[in-house]
Amino acid sequence: MHTIRLVLATNNQHKVKEIRKILPESYDLLTLKDAGLSLDLPETTGSISGNAAQKALTVWELTGCDCIADDSGLEVQALDGKPGVDSAHFAGFPPNEDRNLVYLLDQMEGVLNRKASFVTVIALVLKGKLFTFEGRLNGEISLKRMGNHGFGYDPVFIPEGFRETFAQMSPERKNAISHRALALQQLAGFFMKNGGEALL
Ligand code: IMP
Repeated sequence: MHTIRLVLATNNQHKVKEIRKILPESYDLLTLKDAGLSLDLPETTGSISGNAAQKALTVWELTGCDCIADDSGLEVQALDGKPGVDSAHFAGFPPNEDRNLVYLLDQMEGVLNRKASFVTVIALVLKGKLFTFEGRLNGEISLKRMGNHGFGYDPVFIPEGFRETFAQMSPERKNAISHRALALQQLAGFFMKNGGEALL
């Protein structure tokens, strides 16, 4: 069987593992480091989907290999979709998750519309062609932080249909329903629909 090399625009082994599970075995997954790249990928487009595409296209230009990049963020309706693409550094630089949380709750003080969504966009460059897959999970921002699991905004995000925050759920439960899982499912669907092998 002919192996196809796919570079993931990350050095995060957890993301590599997650993606490995859903791709046909004929794909050989490499981290940026494995591909001999040591650089900060540009994220300057001002949107989550734009940044995912920008990172994947940058890796493709540098390596000529098929590749995948992802970008995520929290969009709060009453804040006109903020922090969105700025989720990692909502409260300024250097990025700090705790300050981001405090800042978000301050911004939401007295706000009745607490609707929000977590979004992940996965960009795939395959044979020089760009495909994007969006996972979106609706929910709301809690009045105070609750729970100790997870990271980022997990302690204040209650997914629709649940009464607890992401941070009150076990990691397995969160990972089964998360925006990232939804985007990965779409990616898996793409490979299944296109027959995996048929793309080689
Ligand atoms: P990244 O693009 O996956 O690095 O995510 C950017 C930022 O969005 C993170 O630094 C977090 O602040 C926020 N974020 C993304 N996904 C999650 C999540 O699953 N839980 C909590 N915060 C998240």
